[in-house]
Amino acid sequence: MSKPVAGHDVVVVGGGHNGLVAAILAASGGQSVLLLERSPHLGGATLGEPVFAGRPTRLSRYSYLVSLFPDDLAAELGIALPLASRITSSYTPTVRDGHASGLLVERSPGAATEASFAALTGGASEFRAWQQLYGELAAMAAALAPHLRGPMLRRTQVQKRVIGAAGQQLWTDLFEQPLSEMLLRRFADDTVRGIVATDALIGTFTSLTDESLLANRCFLYHLIGRGTGEWQVPIGGMGALSDALWERARAVGVQIRTNFSVDAVTETAEGVVVTGETVRGGRLNFPAAYLLAAVAPVVLDGWRGVDSVKPVGSQLKVNMLLDRLPQLASGIDPAIAFAGTMHLEEGYEQLEQAYRASAAGEVGEHLPSEVYCHSLSDTSILNGERAHTLTLFGLHTPRRCSKQTRRGPLVR
Ligand SMILES: Cc1cc2nc3c(=O)[nH]c(=O)nc-3n(C[C@H](O)[C@H](O)[C@H](O)COP(=O)(O)OP(=O)(O)OC[C@H]3O[C@@H](n4cnc5c(N)ncnc54)[C@H](O)[C@@H]3O)c2cc1C
Repeated sequence: MSKPVAGHDVVVVGGGHNGLVAAILAASGGQSVLLLERSPHLGGATLGEPVFAGRPTRLSRYSYLVSLFPDDLAAELGIALPLASRITSSYTPTVRDGHASGLLVERSPGAATEASFAALTGGASEFRAWQQLYGELAAMAAALAPHLRGPMLRRTQVQKRVIGAAGQQLWTDLFEQPLSEMLLRRFADDTVRGIVATDALIGTFTSLTDESLLANRCFLYHLIGRGTGEWQVPIGGMGALSDALWERARAVGVQIRTNFSVDAVTETAEGVVVTGETVRGGRLNFPAAYLLAAVAPVVLDGWRGVDSVKPVGSQLKVNMLLDRLPQLASGIDPAIAFAGTMHLEEGYEQLEQAYRASAAGEVGEHLPSEVYCHSLSDTSILNGERAHTLTLFGLHTPRRCSKQTRRGPLVR
């Protein structure tokens, strides 16, 4: 038998950053709030941990960069959100005609970026096309970002704003046709196409040619945050954000219960009853006027008895702790190359081949991945260690392929 527990105005299920934000806003508005979390810790995918046994360095196992958390939300929540800009946007090692080189994109592309494009592509047109696209994207980001916290815009309202700020071509390229068309038309170089394309693939599992435009949606999320599309490093690691949210939630009176897994929700005349299990197997009911479900849609569907397909994760993440950063054959300073996103095997064709192979349940010839060093932008995560962190993010690696292995160095 489940035991009823005194009612709350709001029950929030899920103690990730979205659940914490919702709980703080509701409690700050005078509601009595109970937050239920399945795991022993709050933070969900933002949790920062000492992930290397016996070492004090703290890193997140999942999310690591911030772009979609607006400053005005942090201010309204009453938390500090210190962020650092990375000096490099990306570096892509290349080997052409047996010659090791690489494409550097600075955070604000200037002379070094222009020279790097010219050396790789043998002319000025790819850099011009890059500046054109990212200029249009910046105008779109500035026009759309202020609406991310307001009532959701209709498609026609978004269309008006995008065309007004960035022009008809960008609207067509991003909202009306698969992203592949824009990449193939605007750029001639496979490496350059791939670098642009990765923002459409990180966090999703699809082809750039897919008519559903899933890749386009992913691209938009990556390009409009904070009105600039810049992804910044949270000082203290992503865990510092979840710690700040957790402390604020307690300060505004949110009641928190961890180690409690919700498995059913019943609608009543007064609102809802949320039911679940403690780690010891005890069953409890929590009545409330409102439920805020800060969990994946498939979890909510399960409580409501709706059949839905559980998505398969398609990304691989490896956290490393190194005595020193690897040297690159191109001779670039590793402190520049690893400060941003380093793209490995992420040419346009390699990305498409890897998707086709993994969609067929196989590990392809290429393992597109990106590598990034958090400690170059923020040494505080090292907690005094003389080391560097490296994080590898592998694309198109669904779990069903995980029994297969592929040997070989990822970084030369
Ligand atoms: C490898 C990886 C890297 C990523 N990198 C970034 C990044 O750099 N930047 C970025 O912005 N985004 C990144 N993301 C995406 C980001 O992590 C998610 O968008 C974000 O975590 C969603 O937050 P959330 O609070 O909605 O969910 P979550 O963080 O997933 O939290 C959900 C919480 O609900 C709890 N829960 C689930 N079911 C129940 C239940 N039945 N009862 C009680 N509790 C339950 C879970 O334990 C969890 O704590 C990344 C994602 C992954 C997987």
